[in-house]
Amino acid sequence: MIELNGLDVNEKERSIIIDKMDKMGHEQVVFCRDKETGLKAIIAIHDTTMGPALGGTRMWNYKNEIDALNDVLRLSRGMTYKAAITGLELGGGKAVIIGDARYDKSEALLRRFGQFVESLGGKYITAEDVGMSTKDMEYIRMETRHVTGTAEELGGSGDPSPVTAYGVYMGIKAATMYRWGDNSLEGKTILVQGIGHVGEHLVKHLTNEKANILINDINKERLKIISKKYGAKIVEGDSIYDLDMDIYSPCALGATLNTDTISRLKCEIVAGAANNQLEDEDVHAHQLLEKGIIYAPDFLINAGGLINVYSEIKRFSREQSLEKTENIYNTTLEILNKAEEDGITTNKAAISIAEQRLSENIK
Ligand code: NAD
Repeated sequence: MIELNGLDVNEKERSIIIDKMDKMGHEQVVFCRDKETGLKAIIAIHDTTMGPALGGTRMWNYKNEIDALNDVLRLSRGMTYKAAITGLELGGGKAVIIGDARYDKSEALLRRFGQFVESLGGKYITAEDVGMSTKDMEYIRMETRHVTGTAEELGGSGDPSPVTAYGVYMGIKAATMYRWGDNSLEGKTILVQGIGHVGEHLVKHLTNEKANILINDINKERLKIISKKYGAKIVEGDSIYDLDMDIYSPCALGATLNTDTISRLKCEIVAGAANNQLEDEDVHAHQLLEKGIIYAPDFLINAGGLINVYSEIKRFSREQSLEKTENIYNTTLEILNKAEEDGITTNKAAISIAEQRLSENIK
């Protein structure tokens, strides 16, 4: 189902959109528009085979509505794969609000968006994403129950970052086991790029394992603090991709794995928290494979955050979330082995397992 009433598109663009939805397998895309509040949003429900489509709402100043649509289609499909590979009873969805998060937000706009979420009757469950704050989610919650990721003091699952970091740590250990036949990180040189919420928790786990940690961030103040706290070595500038290291862990932005950086990387493993690390899913996954670099798929090892919000719906504890997250270790090993057996990239192996689970409805 597609509701194009809210989108400024011509006939040609309309057919491109429908074609894209067909190819990517989306169930429903809803364009939300409200003149009074200025709301322009898109909710994409990719697949609800395993359960309601869960995924955050992103507010971003997209160049145009087609860019916003492309983003939400790609992100929502990613959520389907993430939930399926992790074995959660959830489908994949995502929403984008078009606008500048600094200037265009208002209580009225967010509440109107909440009404659109409510109108889907629980088929889509939203959460926080880029450009949205806890306060914004509270406004949305005034209009719909279908929101997750609220503060612990409000009965929610709280900050997902420690759980995400734990999953990434499990992914790193599994890839280490696969590569060296031993999962100890002692003495391994690991670059953590981005030492924000997830990055710092990851550095903590790596410190406990006596890894040799390099840290990189654009926030110099934060670099100083984390370096002092954990004894990690600061590395800066574009030359970080040329460094001698065993493991590169991208925990800042997406698309850091591209033709240029991969040709320079000397590491054995790439495993980090950032979403959409491969600039081009196909081209760059192959480039890594050809270079013999083991890539732990991002949507698999950063699923701890999703497990954390899932716990809110299923009402299980932080301990249970961590237990489920620990299983990322086994799944990562399974995928690395499958990729080797089938002679395919690890990204493809992860997607094919997720698709198989979806087609067989295995929860
Ligand atoms: P964050 O905003 O707390 O931290 C990101 C850090 O990256 C910041 O310290 C920032 O200064 C730094 N950074 C930004 N641009 C950079 C650059 N060009 N080079 C080096 N450092 C740069 O975000 P977070 O919550 O720690 O999330 C990190 C990544 O993991 C994001 O890509 C996010 O989408 C992804 N992720 C996070 C979660 C979660 O639970 N928070 C879950 C899944 C995926």
